Amino acid sequence: MKAIVVGGGIGGLAAAVSLRRVGWEVVVHERAAVFGEIGAGVGVMPNALRALEWMGVADEARRLGTPRVSGGIRSSDGRWLVRLPEVGQEKVIAMHRADLHGVLLRALPPEILFNNVEVTSVEELDADLVVAADGINSRLRAELLPGAPGPVYAGTTAWRGVAPGPRDLEITQTFGPGGEAGVLPLGDGRVCWFVAAVAPPSASLDPAELFADWHDPLPDLVSSTPEVIRHDIYELPPLPTFVSGRVALLGDAAHAMTPYLGQGACMALEDAVTLAACDGDLARYDAVRRPRAQEVWRGSRMAGRFGIGVRSPVALALRNFALRAMPTSVAVRVMTRFSAWEVPAMPR
Ligand SMILES: Cc1cc2nc3c(=O)[nH]c(=O)nc-3n(C[C@H](O)[C@H](O)[C@H](O)COP(=O)(O)OP(=O)(O)OC[C@H]3O[C@@H](n4cnc5c(N)ncnc54)[C@H](O)[C@@H]3O)c2cc1C
Repeated sequence: MKAIVVGGGIGGLAAAVSLRRVGWEVVVHERAAVFGEIGAGVGVMPNALRALEWMGVADEARRLGTPRVSGGIRSSDGRWLVRLPEVGQEKVIAMHRADLHGVLLRALPPEILFNNVEVTSVEELDADLVVAADGINSRLRAELLPGAPGPVYAGTTAWRGVAPGPRDLEITQTFGPGGEAGVLPLGDGRVCWFVAAVAPPSASLDPAELFADWHDPLPDLVSSTPEVIRHDIYELPPLPTFVSGRVALLGDAAHAMTPYLGQGACMALEDAVTLAACDGDLARYDAVRRPRAQEVWRGSRMAGRFGIGVRSPVALALRNFALRAMPTSVAVRVMTRFSAWEVPAMPR
């Protein structure tokens, strides 16, 4: 059985690795001149790590990433709102995105990877299975589900980067008025960070100015990053199906979500393993994946409302009070509620 994967991002490469593991012949078509990822971080959550285990690449991910447990949520002045203890929790692997992408790339033989190939229609692809992993603006999705809504602006803009920073930082998320930030230390002197603000799309804003009075080391991280990446945040309203004929949508092409749970790429890894476990049964893939991915999509939206979406001083004070009053056990449950995913059983 032959599969063509369209898109060589984290989702597409994970699909290729997973399908090959169950015996599919796979090629990957990527429109960019090189297979690569942007200079930013990704937290490989326990659910995603289980997907990488199944693919047989988790050890390399652990070797290149940094296992992190302790951390929590802070307010923009630096006070802790929620502190997550180390005990009893699964580890998150903090990684540079290029390292995660590289782990998947190296698990594939170079002769199946084709760059500079832009797929314009499913019709041109001769395969038993086509995996549309062509990202949030998926051309294949638009062709197959012409009535489905496209991406919608989520009301926020994010900036990301990797900068030198202290080695002993913890993973933190920070809530402030109309803004949010996150720090993902790689443990080797590099720190991945993101900041996001409520703003109209393409607004002319300088993150170094916007976050100048937030707690350390955020201002230094932002101002010392040589190459800051900016993304207006879009999300894809839930689709009625993830499949059409011999095509399976995967990753952001199927369920692009806001970044507030840090689960978008993790969901793409889950999709990939599930697709392979379904071994060509696309109705099953849709039945298993759609409810799960859309639940996390909604969770991410809620997390955004509760975090970056809170703007008035009164609502901010109430939210921060509620977080500080939350028992640790409840906080752990809330923050890890989507990590309890297991690889689905193979049908045979
Ligand atoms: C600010 C921000 C922070 C984030 N933080 C996190 C996080 O901490 N943790 C997390 O898990 N997720 C995070 N995400 C989400 C994550 O980045 C995405 O969910 C993930 O990268 C999607 O991977 P993908 O492979 O589906 O799509 P993409 O990475 O978009 O890859 C699609 C690929 O398809 C190629 N392509 C497109 N069209 C064609 C075509 N017609 N023919 C051939 N190739 C084509 C593109 O060139 C690209 O390489 C974040 C997202 C944002 C915006």
